[in-house]
Amino acid sequence: MATIEPVDIECPNCGSSDYLSFDEDYDDEWITLLCDCLICNAKFQINYRAVGIDPIGPNREEIEFRKNLRKTLLDLLKRNLDLRLKYNDLIESGCEERELDKFITYLLDNYSSVFNDELFPAGKSKKEYLADVIQVLCVAEA
Ligand SMILES: [Zn+2]
Repeated sequence: MATIEPVDIECPNCGSSDYLSFDEDYDDEWITLLCDCLICNAKFQINYRAVGIDPIGPNREEIEFRKNLRKTLLDLLKRNLDLRLKYNDLIESGCEERELDKFITYLLDNYSSVFNDELFPAGKSKKEYLADVIQVLCVAEA
């Protein structure tokens, strides 16, 4: 595994660490901070790359549950053509409420051992919770 070598963040022209960023830029992989050295006024950019993404804020636990549930569902869809076809119909319907309801009922009836209690936060309705997660997935796939 390649190691990531940290570098000191300092002006490449004078070595000062007094700088201000005046703009930022990013794509899927890199985040670039455009900087202005306060000592010699050289302009430079700092390139960042993500090494970890952690959810923050009060919904952190909720996000973990959603992530697991999404992964479980996507794994099922990969392995079961029949389910995949039903899912495709659901997407084509624009995740229409009745279709969504039908799909979730089918999921819970046929894969009840997969969608066990551990996948859901305590006190949440499985149906409602699945509906939330699937709606988000539908938007991403439409
Ligand atoms: Zn400088």
